[in-house]
Amino acid sequence: MAYRNRVNILGVPVDMVDKETAFGIFREIFAEPGCSMIVTPNSEIVQNASKDPELKSLIASADLIIPDGIGLVYASRLMGCPLSERVTGIDFLESIIEYLSGTGESIFFFGSKPGVAEKAAEKMKEKYPGLAVAGTHHGYFKPEEEEEIVREINESGADFLCVALGAPKQEKFIASHQKQLSVRGAIGVGGSLDVWAGSLKRAPEFYRKHGLEWLYRFIQQPTRFKRMLALPAFMLRVIFSGRK
Ligand code: UDP
Repeated sequence: MAYRNRVNILGVPVDMVDKETAFGIFREIFAEPGCSMIVTPNSEIVQNASKDPELKSLIASADLIIPDGIGLVYASRLMGCPLSERVTGIDFLESIIEYLSGTGESIFFFGSKPGVAEKAAEKMKEKYPGLAVAGTHHGYFKPEEEEEIVREINESGADFLCVALGAPKQEKFIASHQKQLSVRGAIGVGGSLDVWAGSLKRAPEFYRKHGLEWLYRFIQQPTRFKRMLALPAFMLRVIFSGRK
């Protein structure tokens, strides 16, 4: 693995990368044999990982940890170790898709409600006509079905795997099957397939530019209110951890 700087936020490591550097690292690790794991933590995930040793060590073991949240950028500034920008998981995965459509290597879309992965695959193939989709599978399964899903992914011959099961389920799935998976890279991407399939709207440019994606998400899914309190709680923890 290439040497790189990592910032520790509440004890959870995050790569100090911008989009371009992160993509360069992706190309390096994707060229290596074995399944590389890419994780896309935001402040909610870091907050949870700081209290969940299993999730924390799983994130730390990833080959690429991209800062997918404005909260992480603010936290890193407060800590005097500033991340230069937020690298969103959905945009990062789209760059990977664009790259794969050029090389002819294939992707498997795994996760979200039945029908969503297929629809997202269709939309991405329309946008990137060279894209080879090796297969799709929804994300609602019993634990005893996991081995069968891994077999299906391997038999599809996919080169890259996108796992949209929400955090931390997607990270745990990748980590626990990393050795058996024959893809060369896998990423956990939350609601990206829903956005591409059109079942979840992404925040307009204004909200994204001003770091207000969380507000737009709240307007769309008010039931997430409790989960959203994680952001201010996270910032307070960062501030107070710096004062100790
Ligand atoms: N999801 C899934 N299986 C599950 C739970 C969730 O496939 O058992 C999917 C869900 O349909 C959605 C995605 O995971 O497409 C992300 O869910 P959520 O919005 O909770 O993710 P986060 O905000 O944590 O990224």
